[in-house]
Amino acid sequence: MTFSADLLPIRFRSVGPDVLLTSPFGDWAFVSRDELAALSRGELPADLASKLGARGFVKGQLDRQKLSERVARKKRFLGYGPNLHIVVVTLRCNETCVYCHASRADMTATHTDMTPEIAEKTVDFILQSTSPAVTIEFQGGEPLVNFPVVKHVIDYALERNRAYGKQLEFTMVTNLALMDDEKLSFLLEKKVQICTSVDGPEPLHNKQRVLAGGNAHRAACEWIRKINRRYEEMGLDPTLYHVEALLTTTREALRYPREIVDTYVSLGCRAIFLRPVDPFGFADKTAKTVEYDRAAYHDFYRAAVDHIISLNKQGTQVLERYAAIFLTKILADEEPNFLDIRSPSGSAIGALAYNYDGRIFTSDEGRMIHEMGDSSFQIGDVRTTRYREAMRHETVRALVLASVRETQPDCATCTYAPYCGVQPEHSYLSQGTLFGRMRESSLCNVHKGIQDYLFGKLREGDPDTLSILERWTTVRERAHFLQASAAS
Ligand code: SF4
Repeated sequence: MTFSADLLPIRFRSVGPDVLLTSPFGDWAFVSRDELAALSRGELPADLASKLGARGFVKGQLDRQKLSERVARKKRFLGYGPNLHIVVVTLRCNETCVYCHASRADMTATHTDMTPEIAEKTVDFILQSTSPAVTIEFQGGEPLVNFPVVKHVIDYALERNRAYGKQLEFTMVTNLALMDDEKLSFLLEKKVQICTSVDGPEPLHNKQRVLAGGNAHRAACEWIRKINRRYEEMGLDPTLYHVEALLTTTREALRYPREIVDTYVSLGCRAIFLRPVDPFGFADKTAKTVEYDRAAYHDFYRAAVDHIISLNKQGTQVLERYAAIFLTKILADEEPNFLDIRSPSGSAIGALAYNYDGRIFTSDEGRMIHEMGDSSFQIGDVRTTRYREAMRHETVRALVLASVRETQPDCATCTYAPYCGVQPEHSYLSQGTLFGRMRESSLCNVHKGIQDYLFGKLREGDPDTLSILERWTTVRERAHFLQASAAS
């Protein structure tokens, strides 16, 4: 196939009866199969030249200055440094989940609690990040199990940040079962964003997330409603300020796309993230019961998002997170900086994870691989490693090289490369190589299927659907969660 020299390099893929073309800069257009045949013979008829010129494919019509500014804008994250800092304050957890990614420990394993001394050294390390914005995210295990250290990290970070002036935020990922009024008041007072897991309707949730002697679904839902009420009492806009909830899509969940969406909507959630299971932590051991063919996931995804779109058409504003990430790149030409779907990926240069014992990892996935017995992604220890030493670690360089789409063997020729991203730790764990073989990768399969679905909707061109998809690209800042040192 020889395309006209007047055109930028083109990648193409069938979408329905038409063919999608993409350029290296993220421009896209649909052409008919006859038009593709003409292009592939090196022809560029006038009508097609005009159509592709308007879509940014014709070299002579490009404004190089604007193009370089556009690339710089979308890659500006490269000039920052790690923004997200995941702090595992304990491995202990009060729930047992079939797909646990966190390599949890039993409630008796107090030796997996982070100490106040390690917590302080972790904060000291985090605040050295070159990123002007820093988010400290509490994870576990279950972070509420070691709440005194959560409080200590927050108070210590606020105090220390007076000298650094970072735009500081706190987030907690919790199952909420150990929440109480005192803890909640502290978290609200300190403006900590709260994120939880909801697997869908009560029977499904409780089957997958077992809370000894309790009802995990009821605990989560009661606290979600209560926290959302507290936000409203504080005068915060409920469409912007509410508990975020995450789904882990198991084999069992595939049967309930509409019910899962309805559960989220009934809880006041405005965003649903239809994440598939991944191979980290205990999910690997339980794969026989929770894993599935990715074709089944795509059926689930399409059914769930079709339902979400129809709810929007009836006036309920709710979005799917994967779709919003890709659409922000496709329609809004912006980089939403979601660390697993960008090039290079956010491993180490966008996020770091800190284990309870002070070890530093390139990502939470890298930490989970350590808990599975392989410490390849450890790049330091908060007690002994200096920030620059960690960031110059050879593993960091390898991860960056392995996650540049333009050099990744399969991504380099993929139509979706301008919008996509690879996660090298996932390739390492599932395929034994950082670079991965994307045509065999379950993660690539998910990314491809979602983009096929979205471009299918764009090709169909239903005006109501298009305006909903465009609305999903709107980014609304949640300024309330910025700490005073940066917000004032
Ligand atoms: S991960 Fe897969 S879908 Fe994404 S750019 Fe690479 S090959 Fe394409």
